[in-house]
Amino acid sequence: MSLIVQKYGGTSVADLERIHNVAKRVAKTYDQNNDVVVILSAMAGVTDNLIDMANTIAESPDKRELDVLLATGEQTTAALLAMTLKKMNYPALSMLGHQAGVITDRSYGNARIIEIGAEYILKLIQKRNIVVVAGFQGSDVGGNITTLGRGGSDTSAVAIASALKADICEIYTDVDGIYTADPNICEKARKIDRISYDEMLNMASLGAKVLQIRSVGFAKKYNVPVHVRSSFSEEEGTMVVSEDAGMESLVVSAVTHDKNQARITLTKVQDRPGVAAKIFAPLAEAGIVVDMIIQNIRPEGQTDLTFTIPKAQFKTAMEIERKVAEEIEAQDVLGDKNIAMVSVVGVGMKNHSGVASMMFNTLARENINIMMISTSEIRISCVIEEKYTELAVRVLHTAFGLDKED
Ligand code: ADP
Ligand code: ASP
Ligand code: MG
Repeated sequence: MSLIVQKYGGTSVADLERIHNVAKRVAKTYDQNNDVVVILSAMAGVTDNLIDMANTIAESPDKRELDVLLATGEQTTAALLAMTLKKMNYPALSMLGHQAGVITDRSYGNARIIEIGAEYILKLIQKRNIVVVAGFQGSDVGGNITTLGRGGSDTSAVAIASALKADICEIYTDVDGIYTADPNICEKARKIDRISYDEMLNMASLGAKVLQIRSVGFAKKYNVPVHVRSSFSEEEGTMVVSEDAGMESLVVSAVTHDKNQARITLTKVQDRPGVAAKIFAPLAEAGIVVDMIIQNIRPEGQTDLTFTIPKAQFKTAMEIERKVAEEIEAQDVLGDKNIAMVSVVGVGMKNHSGVASMMFNTLARENINIMMISTSEIRISCVIEEKYTELAVRVLHTAFGLDKED
């Protein structure tokens, strides 16, 4: 007998028929004498629709109320699945994040889990109940509803699995595993059978949204084995586990892309101490995470400073920087939302030269202009025009020898 946590994503619970399909899978696992805890996302598109509705009321809707609103998406699917299981004569019971003991900080919209009180769920599963938990949500110590950031039900699942000391956390989604590139844009992408937490952390941080990055961090910290697989087939997916000797360490193991960033440039900034701090401090105060930064020195003792931030915070960041520009007497603030970041990732890159030049040559051959570059020991990222994203991913995938054999 095992304790299995299963998480089903938005497309897996997109309508009642799919929820019934999920119920059948859960029932089958339970019938095989396992304890089952299910974590659900909202139906595909529902979170987006709720955000749109809120944005119709106000440009920046109240953050506390927005989380109360967004949490309803997951509340709906949890109730519907529990109802379906009960109709099939299974002892199921739904609960919201706070009922499941998911305690977070108060960063509405992007809350971090502080602790999980697992006793209630444990008591219920000891009595052979199937517990269905609304993912993506928790509450702060004051009882305010919070949400965990987009894609956050992956994190709910892994965190609950670690609190329950589950044998495995299964992430059911619309692809049958983790691939060397997003299989929806690169048809030659190869499925990876086993991947280390570290490698997956890299991929998630560079845009592979198949797992929310925080869920991978949790899995690594508490050593939770994660199995990413399809809810539409029986096929084995990808195991995300600790690194072991049997894993390949390719120079480049994956190509990722991220369309969720935007670029801001401040032109003709005075080149003197303290200016960069003035530009970035107010962004940090507003909770906006800056990713890449480049600075070009002009001959007249001025610089142009360009950086990337999440697209969702573009408007706020532009407003902040317009004020900063006035204060520091920069010439202009330019913004560009039509960008994407493509990256090649691989731990084997540490000991290899020539990866960067291969990447730049490959993009140059397709006439794709590189706007920004950033590197670390294990990845190289280029910012390009968004319209070239798919092409760039495909040609890089081929150039680094990752294409599957026909
Ligand atoms: P869910 O709603 O089930 O959480 P998501 O849309 O959040 O699903 O994540 C699954 C999607 O992740 C896939 O449909 C795929 O387009 C995308 N994806 C991006 N990179 C990868 C990758 N390297 N391997 C697999 N899927 C990827
Ligand atoms: N429903 C939330 C979202 O769309 C959480 C999730 O699906 O993981 O971001
Ligand atoms: Mg997801």
